[in-house]
Amino acid sequence: MRTRLIEAREARGLTQLALADQVTGLTQEVTRLTRSGIASFELGDSTPRPETLTRIATVLGLPERYFFWPDNAPKPSTTFCRAPRSVSPILSTRADRQAKWAGDVASELSGVMGLQKVDFPKFDIPNPEALTGERIEELATQVRRYWGLGDGPISNVVKLLENKGAIVVRCELGEPRLDGLSHWRGERPTIMLAADRGSGARSRFDAAHELGHLILHRAVPAERLRNGADWRLFEDQAHRFAGAFLFPQSAFMEEVLLVDLDALQPLKLRWKVSIKMMVKRAATLGLIPPERERHLMVNYNRRGYRLNEPFENAVEVEKPRLLKLAIELLVNGRGPDAALDLLPYPLSDLERLTGISPNLFSKNHGAVVSDVIVLSFKTPSEPPSEPTPTRHERGTLGEIVPFPRR
Ligand SMILES: [Zn+2]
Repeated sequence: MRTRLIEAREARGLTQLALADQVTGLTQEVTRLTRSGIASFELGDSTPRPETLTRIATVLGLPERYFFWPDNAPKPSTTFCRAPRSVSPILSTRADRQAKWAGDVASELSGVMGLQKVDFPKFDIPNPEALTGERIEELATQVRRYWGLGDGPISNVVKLLENKGAIVVRCELGEPRLDGLSHWRGERPTIMLAADRGSGARSRFDAAHELGHLILHRAVPAERLRNGADWRLFEDQAHRFAGAFLFPQSAFMEEVLLVDLDALQPLKLRWKVSIKMMVKRAATLGLIPPERERHLMVNYNRRGYRLNEPFENAVEVEKPRLLKLAIELLVNGRGPDAALDLLPYPLSDLERLTGISPNLFSKNHGAVVSDVIVLSFKTPSEPPSEPTPTRHERGTLGEIVPFPRR
């Protein structure tokens, strides 16, 4: 129970003191719940009385059974959180814990249905600090090849990552400077992206940046991120990876004939990357000298592109669908109660983390027709754990599979 309590408090962005004060504020009783009282529950030194637990659950907006929900899925690996160092750790931890919740939801769902199989390439990178820019370009190309992608534009990065088994969440992160985060849960990666990005191109870059961390920095222990220089280096590496993954060097050299704010605009439509990204990438690849990059960026800001690049609406903000479709399948196939039994969260959290409709659990919701992504219930003989059954591998990515009728 104590780990669920810590997780819930952190997922709500509360300190021990704030939680104690809010719980105390719920009652007229003279006895206060103190910060040390919460600390004692979290250390496992004492257990809250039933009425205290009820109040804690009320303040945290969770059903009481959440606190007794077994935490059997693998613990998250080092989380890479893309935010300036000045962002409060309470806010980045809040996002991280909510990303873990999404992973927990996926883990529960994978117990009852064949959730997308994870198919990420693994590279042995024990010392990522030694990676050169060229090596990162190569690795990005190798990931493309592993997934059978040529060197052309990727139509939908989020769909690609989900098709390869990643859990992708797009939600409000409550802090505009927080762009995204990622971690591994055993063999399954989770990526969380900010919803409040008006720009589809920037958001695709965010997703590719997190893919960079997942591929390059799997071996990095969390302690290393406390070192500002290391953290900066890993951020730069993930940026390089994202640029290389979205717009490979060979294609860039072939198609970017003129590095100019007007000439790059049609390429934005074709590659779905920002003009700013292409200017930076041209400098990184040595196509333009640093002074030309500076000059272009001055003009970029002067034209007001920093707030509104041309063709922003032409690149869609890609939406994750795997968890949404899985929950819809569960509700349609086994009923709302079965879904709520399996997932001990309030609907507001499930909506925010998975994008399900608020009406999904109401009695008269219409049957939701699934598109893409291969999902179906496991038969009873299959073990209720990962890895997912291989019979689902026969479906091609993007195939439409009807719901099983019961
Ligand atoms: Zn990062």
